Amino acid sequence: MRTLQELTRPNIWKLKPYSSARDEYKGATASVFLDANENPYNLPHNRYPDPMQHELKAVLAPIKHVRPEQIFLGNGSDEAIDLLFRAFCEPGTDNVVAIDPTYGMYQVCADVNNVAYRKVLLDEQFQFTADSLLAAADAHTKLIFLCSPNNPTGNDLSHTQIEILLNRFDGLVVVDEAYIDFSSLPSFAGMLDRYPNLIVLQTFSKAWGCAAIRLGMAFASPEIIGILSKIKYPYNVNQLTQQQALDMLSRYEEINEWVQTLKAEREVLMRQVEALPCVLRVFASDANFFLARVDDASRIYTYLVDRGIIVRNRHSVSLCGNCLRITIGNPFENSQLMEALKNYRS
Ligand SMILES: *Cc1c(COP(=O)(O)O)cnc(C)c1O
Repeated sequence: MRTLQELTRPNIWKLKPYSSARDEYKGATASVFLDANENPYNLPHNRYPDPMQHELKAVLAPIKHVRPEQIFLGNGSDEAIDLLFRAFCEPGTDNVVAIDPTYGMYQVCADVNNVAYRKVLLDEQFQFTADSLLAAADAHTKLIFLCSPNNPTGNDLSHTQIEILLNRFDGLVVVDEAYIDFSSLPSFAGMLDRYPNLIVLQTFSKAWGCAAIRLGMAFASPEIIGILSKIKYPYNVNQLTQQQALDMLSRYEEINEWVQTLKAEREVLMRQVEALPCVLRVFASDANFFLARVDDASRIYTYLVDRGIIVRNRHSVSLCGNCLRITIGNPFENSQLMEALKNYRS
């Protein structure tokens, strides 16, 4: 197996990170802060936030069943995705492998960083085999991107195949679990101690109802977290976001209720949509959205837009011809969608 040093870009491995005033002073007892050129007025917004988000990680760790040193927090999961490319993939030389279709940001970050992006088409059940991804990989493949439940297809990927990949791929496996709270399968975060090459991504943007605060999580070995932490912007998660996240974590019960409600609404809405004459097929979902194949996705999309209802047209995406991706809303929003679709004539 390649070591973490062999997987990391040499300049990143050698990098001495920027040391902020708040990094250098870590004691708890000081009350006079004259080290960071801050303004002493305008509390509480005058102080730089904790660059390593210690308090937030301490509260998050037991909830996610990981240790604080296995957590990286970023400006959305998108920051973690970009940092993974910058840490491990040499532009113009290295490549990554990903399932297709999946979340669009992996390809965008690959393109930004000039890293070849190798897509492997899912099968008709939107599943993959470890063998097909391994066949696409070579000595320059540093990362494999999986997303489970997958976006835009909505289904859990086979955990058996993910484990085969973790055992056999000589590189890092990223499992994006943005929708894990809506799935009945467990998170791979519980497998970190078994698989040193595993990176799990989660986010506050979906089940936690906090897309506005921009907070994403990566769970991995302390060594991988250390690499991401040393190349991030020093104050990448602002104070307002850290505070709001702590507030949300104290309302854990409420989030569970949202998730239960959304899962129940998902089953109701999927059955109603499936019964519409313009709908050919509704695909099974383990997320807070589902994919529906219709007779004319672009026409129905425009029809709904004209009525102020926005869904996602996925017609141009691999395996998703004439498919709309529909997010589960509240009961009123869902009934507005159904009323419009019942009045639609093909
Ligand atoms: C929505 C989503 C995210 C969340 O990204 P943030 O930057 O944390 O808002 C990540 N991955 C997938 C697959 C998503 O669909």
